[in-house]
Amino acid sequence: MATPATPQQLATLVQDQQAAEAAALEEQTANQADGGASAQLAALVAAALAAWIAAFGTLTAAGAGVKLAALLTGVRSDVDHASRGLGARSQRVLEGALGEATHLGARHAAALLTRASGHHHAIPDVAVPDDAARAASFLAGAVAEQLRMAARLLSPRMVSGSGWRGILAGLGAARRAATMARQTIAWTVHRAINGGAAQVADHYGARLLWVSEPDACVTCLAYAGHVSDRDGHFPGGLSMDPRARSTTRAALEGPPAHPVCRCRAVPWLPGWDTGDGSLPALLRDQAWRSIAAGHGRPSESRAARRRAAQALLARRGLSARVRRQAAATAAGRT
Ligand SMILES: [Zn+2]
Repeated sequence: MATPATPQQLATLVQDQQAAEAAALEEQTANQADGGASAQLAALVAAALAAWIAAFGTLTAAGAGVKLAALLTGVRSDVDHASRGLGARSQRVLEGALGEATHLGARHAAALLTRASGHHHAIPDVAVPDDAARAASFLAGAVAEQLRMAARLLSPRMVSGSGWRGILAGLGAARRAATMARQTIAWTVHRAINGGAAQVADHYGARLLWVSEPDACVTCLAYAGHVSDRDGHFPGGLSMDPRARSTTRAALEGPPAHPVCRCRAVPWLPGWDTGDGSLPALLRDQAWRSIAAGHGRPSESRAARRRAAQALLARRGLSARVRRQAAATAAGRT
């Protein structure tokens, strides 16, 4: 038997080492699926701008008639070319990665059990989770639908009223097809990883412990250090921001909690410590420190972070330092 790892060593294992491996798999899958489409679609904005100026002189010109129709035919053809095969390729690459993702999650979970207990835990057989497989199966269709919408926006009828802004809207819609593929891949790969971990937890009679990223959003930080119930569920609708809380949202089977969530679930045996100094307590303290510091995600408003810091002040067990920082954040002084 090896010496069990400390809570800090376990946190480092999951949040640094294992999270980096998960991110690398997501990145590799997303890049292979994209195949350069994002960059090509992004480059079309400059090309369309040059064509517009050549045809109409200024960006504020209305743009109409045969010239507009010809320009749009060119733009639509460029979009077709840049996005050719994107949906089918994304789905194929994603479906191909799900087995590896599930196994990665299982390997990570077994490593956590081994390190936390000091006893070797073998990796049981795991299967790709249904919800991940289902999400992947819709990807080609969703990308195709988004590209059809872009083509509709890039029709003379739609652009003749709005001019250059109409072209930008159409190209934006086309670029969102690539973004959508990337986000679906991120969610699905992480769902498969966490599904693999959940199967290992099941195999060993363990529950799941939610490990958020140290700088996660107010939703995920509310789950940091939470242990699932007997059925492996987490309560739905938690948030560190009181205004975002909901008591009616469905329970979660684990991360991801939202499209770009990179939280992890790890097995946690019923007898294991959840009190002061344990890994769950360490994760909760980490979340509280993050809320107190008030640094939001780009997607979050400062107001949400301020409300979260204010709500944190009502909790017992804050250190003097965290309390001081939370008060400063709540007052808008950070
Ligand atoms: Zn998360």
